[in-house]
Amino acid sequence: MTPLARLLLQRIEASGPISLADYMADCLLHPQHGYYATRAPFGAQGDFITAPEISQMFGELLGLCLAQGWLDQGAPSAFTLAELGPGRGTLMADVLRATAKVPGFHAAANICLVEASASLRAVQRATLAGFRVTWYDRAEDLPQAPLFLLANEFFDALPIRQFSREGAGWAETMVGAQKGVLAFGRGAAVAVAALAHRLQATPPGTVVEICPAAPAIIDAISARISALGGLALVIDYGGWISQGDTFQALRAHQFCSPLAAPGEADLTAHVDFEALARAAGCAHAYTSQGALLAALGLHQRAAQLARGLTGTQAQAHQAATRRLTAPEEMGNLFKALALFPQGAPPPAGFA
Ligand code: SAH
Repeated sequence: MTPLARLLLQRIEASGPISLADYMADCLLHPQHGYYATRAPFGAQGDFITAPEISQMFGELLGLCLAQGWLDQGAPSAFTLAELGPGRGTLMADVLRATAKVPGFHAAANICLVEASASLRAVQRATLAGFRVTWYDRAEDLPQAPLFLLANEFFDALPIRQFSREGAGWAETMVGAQKGVLAFGRGAAVAVAALAHRLQATPPGTVVEICPAAPAIIDAISARISALGGLALVIDYGGWISQGDTFQALRAHQFCSPLAAPGEADLTAHVDFEALARAAGCAHAYTSQGALLAALGLHQRAAQLARGLTGTQAQAHQAATRRLTAPEEMGNLFKALALFPQGAPPPAGFA
């Protein structure tokens, strides 16, 4: 039993079952035992590998997409270049390298990272040495300025609540205790305001999930974009109006039960992009990661990088290109949502 499992069992025995959101928040961000607080989860040695860790092309193309948006909006002379949940800082480093030759972009950019984990902040500081960077705890605290923002695999790490439709109400999935170990249970069916619009189209017995923190984050981003200009690119796995149980745990690249090793496995859920778009007070566009990267020129960039490579390096580069874009790999499972000012044309890659 992990140390966090023991703490959670004590808490449940004292005050009753907890929601998945409370469980997930402790598992990921508990200051002593949380997954992001204690581990270096990314890369081949970690529990999972993310797009920026697969290939530099991901950050290069997204960086140029943001820079193109900045130029299209008249190149505002002071803007926030932000990332939510930057992990090891690889994506931002690739963005900065790719945009170094865009005249005026770096001089106007105020680099702001939203990161909850102190240990990952230290990794990001090392990766981005040489740049002036400011860290924030919450997206809601980002400066009031034009906002050009990236979020890759950030929303999937935010705590979710899960419900099953029962009659005209919703029964919440809870984490309780059974014979001294953590176990899933269901609460009584009640009305849930955040799911009122889902009732009619959801068959009885069907599971749906909500991410309570997401609307306020999207609102904070879209309010800046509407009032001051900007562009946000949110990339994650999930779909439009997601449905079903998507709560999952990954440990050393293997799926395991989300209750098996609290604090020692990565916990995520699919992102419901319709819920994000619904919370946005500005224009939005939606496509797949594969379609977006292809439209931004990934295959041309891949061919250019391939010229210098031979043998296993060439094979790895080819595999990385496929992994990012092929429909049966990340290309279709991962989606991209752009937020941009009402009346502006959709950003590059989304047209
Ligand atoms: N974007 C990176 C890392 C994704 S993992 C990549 O693509 O490689 C999720 C990241 O979000 C981690 O950096 C994690 O510490 C951070 N994070 C998770 N929950 C957070 C929260 N509530 N507030 C701020 N950062 C959070």
